[in-house]
Amino acid sequence: MRTHAVAIVGSGPSGFYAAGSLLDSTDPPVRVDMFDRLATPWGLVRAGVAPDHPKIKSVSGQYEQIAARPGFRFFGHVCLGEDVTVDELLERYDAVVYAVGSQTERRLGIPGEDRVGSLASVDFVGWYNGHPDYAGLDPDLSGSRAVVIGAGNVALDVARMLLLGEDDLRGTDTADHAIDVFAASSVREVVVCGRRGPVEAAFTTTELRELDDIDGLTVVVDPAQIPDAAGDTDLPRATRRNVELFRKWAEAGPDETRERRMAFRFLRSPVEILGEGEDGPVSGVELGINRLETDDEGRARPVDTGERETLECGLVLRAVGYRGVALPDVPFDEGSGTIPHAEGRIEGREREYVVGWIKRGPTGIIGTNRKDANETVRALLADLASGAREDATIAPAEDVEEWLSERCPELVDLDGWGAIDAHERAAGEDGGRPRVKVVDRSTLMDLVRERS
Ligand code: NAP
Repeated sequence: MRTHAVAIVGSGPSGFYAAGSLLDSTDPPVRVDMFDRLATPWGLVRAGVAPDHPKIKSVSGQYEQIAARPGFRFFGHVCLGEDVTVDELLERYDAVVYAVGSQTERRLGIPGEDRVGSLASVDFVGWYNGHPDYAGLDPDLSGSRAVVIGAGNVALDVARMLLLGEDDLRGTDTADHAIDVFAASSVREVVVCGRRGPVEAAFTTTELRELDDIDGLTVVVDPAQIPDAAGDTDLPRATRRNVELFRKWAEAGPDETRERRMAFRFLRSPVEILGEGEDGPVSGVELGINRLETDDEGRARPVDTGERETLECGLVLRAVGYRGVALPDVPFDEGSGTIPHAEGRIEGREREYVVGWIKRGPTGIIGTNRKDANETVRALLADLASGAREDATIAPAEDVEEWLSERCPELVDLDGWGAIDAHERAAGEDGGRPRVKVVDRSTLMDLVRERS
């Protein structure tokens, strides 16, 4: 059987897991070209995972092993819809897999959401992780209190990053521009607001537990918001552990000797982000106080009691979930922000597939993408094995590279990324950091061109 060629658009975890399983295939054999609009691969592992979580980031070692396998190529600085079209890819590949993740935020839809100082966590996370699109964010951390909206792991990541000391950050791959801003920050209290209760919060226990290990940080929880221990036995294990932690913090009370506070406020929905006039910077958040009601499906739903509470602050971070962005000429479901599919096969299309957050929505941890990608690859390989493409002729791999080089003068291949990677790691060695990220596009291209 001839070697089939698959293009994967997006180089984050789901793209790499799809590439790994495709390269495992021997019948038919498959080669993979992976595209990214950035010069650098790894998606959210590079630009999303919090820099103080190097163990999670170390999953990139698996992606390096996949990238080193015969039949794999990487092409950075290739933007679908700008540099190449879907039809052009379908002319050159037997199948195309979209692995572009969820690149924007879910909106709150409340007044004041776009004031200066009200930031989407997607942007803030990209900024401290050195994503070139957000390097210019320049958040104002001169206020003493920040409010984070949302009760998931991203909310926790951004709250923690705001409260880590300079020493905690210096050994990480946090972008240098962000380390400087964090080091000068006046933020001493972050209030994390969940619209439902501690039982319904989406935090994972490991991420909550590590708050106890942060120097100078105390966790503040109102005992009145924590359910009675008698109900713990009815809770699923993970939820029970979370509630036990919140109860421990509530009972201990804040440690006033610690100068940084992370406070959790439950049953609070933002109703307005406050500031002077229509577009003055953030001065606070008006919160609606909720009670919980069980809906027909047994889900606890927040219901506005009509009572209000105002929290003064200089910064609001909205961390209420990510959202997918439509790709040009690719079906898209506006409601869910995903590409409609059945087992990874895009509805109404042939030879087009989807994996990861743009397939199932922005949920799950990195490892969730392995199973997700395997499902899609199974469908894709079954389609190839049906023999439908056996007689199709596609351009040889070298011709595709030549075509791409003409289209994208700043094309970055695997060696180019290797040069960037080696430079970043070497730059981190003296400071004991995993790497010092290069953010600027022209510096990245200098490194690519200078490679020996
Ligand atoms: P998430 O887990 O879905 O949490 C979103 C939070 O926003 C929920 O608490 C949700 O509350 C709340 N929310 C949604 N709409 C809201 C609104 N209009 N007003 C107020 N609150 C609202 O999403 P995420 O934190 O963005 O994380 C995405 C995925 O990445 C998750 O699976 C997460 O576990 C994973 N992740 C993992 C790690 C890690 O393992 N260290 C780190 C970061 C992210 P409701 O529950 O009431 O809807």
